[in-house]
Amino acid sequence: MKRTAMIGHLTPAHAGQTVTLQGWVNRRRDLGGLIFLELRDRSGLVQVQVEPDSAAFADADRLRAEYVAEIEGTYQARPESQRKGGLADFEVIATRVKVLNTAKTTPFELEKGDSVAEDIRLKFRYLDLRRPEMQRNLVLRSKAVAAVTEYLDREGFVQVETPMLTKSTPEGARDFLVPSRQNPGEFYALPQSPQLFKQMLMIAGYDRYYQLARCFRDEDLRADRQPDFTQLDMEMSFVELDDVLSTQEGLMAHVFRETMGVDLPLPFPRMAYMDAMNLYGSDKPDLRFDLKFTEVTDLFQGGEFKAFASAQAVKVIAAPELTRKQIDELERIAKQNGAGGLAWLKRDGDGFTGGISKFVTAQAAELIARTGVAQGGTLLFTAGEWKKAVGALGAVRLALRDLFDLAAGGPQFHVSWVTEFPQLEFDDESGTWTYMHHPFTAPHPDDLDLFGTDRQGEIRAQAYDLVLNGFEVGGGSIRIHDPAVQAKMFQAIGFSAEQARDKFGFFMDALEYGTPPHGGIAWGFDRLIMVMSGATSIREVIAFPKNNRGVDLMALAPSPVEPGQLADVGLSVALDNS
Ligand code: ASP
Repeated sequence: MKRTAMIGHLTPAHAGQTVTLQGWVNRRRDLGGLIFLELRDRSGLVQVQVEPDSAAFADADRLRAEYVAEIEGTYQARPESQRKGGLADFEVIATRVKVLNTAKTTPFELEKGDSVAEDIRLKFRYLDLRRPEMQRNLVLRSKAVAAVTEYLDREGFVQVETPMLTKSTPEGARDFLVPSRQNPGEFYALPQSPQLFKQMLMIAGYDRYYQLARCFRDEDLRADRQPDFTQLDMEMSFVELDDVLSTQEGLMAHVFRETMGVDLPLPFPRMAYMDAMNLYGSDKPDLRFDLKFTEVTDLFQGGEFKAFASAQAVKVIAAPELTRKQIDELERIAKQNGAGGLAWLKRDGDGFTGGISKFVTAQAAELIARTGVAQGGTLLFTAGEWKKAVGALGAVRLALRDLFDLAAGGPQFHVSWVTEFPQLEFDDESGTWTYMHHPFTAPHPDDLDLFGTDRQGEIRAQAYDLVLNGFEVGGGSIRIHDPAVQAKMFQAIGFSAEQARDKFGFFMDALEYGTPPHGGIAWGFDRLIMVMSGATSIREVIAFPKNNRGVDLMALAPSPVEPGQLADVGLSVALDNS
């Protein structure tokens, strides 16, 4: 190899030495007869000076932005007057330049990367990935993988790969299907998660398992979702909830320390789902700032103010002083999130003005006492069905965070657990009970008797979510290992024995052959790296992502296929795409 060092690995100790560097021309400037180049590789950037009488000049003169070049020269300190401290104080005086390859003019200026339309960046992703920001994100990701592997290996976890072409695993999304040529009319499903396989690895005695698993979910896309994504998937035998949580805390702290030098305070705080919803209106509360809700349902029950009198829940948040325009915007957000409206009051002395003030004179003193709202401050209320009222006010809370930059006052990273999720949820649309996490999650042992009663909505699951800065970055549970409890669970969600057998017969068989108590978790690895890197979309931490319409703009996937390929798998396309 001709290269003597990566650019970013040069140090002041190299001063005076002859170096050979290889990389891309970041920029070229001609000044006073000299050519100034910036040469870039993954590790850094250095200025190269080519003097007019140098043997390197003719070749250097051919270089344009993004040409690939090899440069030999002397690494030396820049003239005193141009030094600012740091490695930029050094430059290379070229003695030889070799053009290793030319490049077309790029369709966007790499340095403008962030402000370029995302579709262009995605279409020319190999150019976008040359940008230092993208390289930083992918290197951070790679370091996080290394830290995870190191830690879990030390803790005795065994890395096992599970199949990509498999049977449906229920995680609440649609499956991506793959037709089978050898079994016409039949389909594989791509895994929504390795859930059943990792549980079978516990049945098989592997004790501790992990995998960086590709998962596939056909659902509506958002900034923090992709149709194919990566989970750090783990499972442990002979554990209880506390064991899983403390292993995870050690792992997460290790990853932050190794990759970013950040020490996370341990243990992570835990909050029950009902508290998270009642206090913050979210099952993934951003706890970098407080701003809790106050419960005021009782103050209005059966009272004069009709909108609140019969509401299942009335919640209030004490915001700083707000303009009418800001209140209108917050009301729009509340409505978008399921509220009928957003009632408000402005504190004025010992009472309130504006909004619904004429209806709350009797409650004014108590509202001030409970909320502690400041003079001039605004109270914002949602009322109605509990889940909608808290959810909408939760969205308002996040909008207030953004409006007043509330998270800036807290720690850079706040990690916490949300626990005690409901085992079952009533789905209004289908009029049936369904699982909240997945059907293999163990209920709390004290709540087993509630199955099949009118209180089954109160059954607590031994499930937990890992929350970082308001993002769900992991979720898991202790699993059902008793076939009788598994049968109860299937029954509760309206799965007949035949349906369960048809979908997961292999797994139900396995459960009967000595299943150890076990539990696990999966991290949304892309999402975690997104938050760690400060990016606002997981597309910024995935090398070749799809856009928000699920399209790979570079490879142009999905795409139609040859009729012959369809015939091979016994399919034809019935849609008219014209
Ligand atoms: N399979 C679950 C999920 O993907 C994670 C787990 O329960 O371990 O959400």
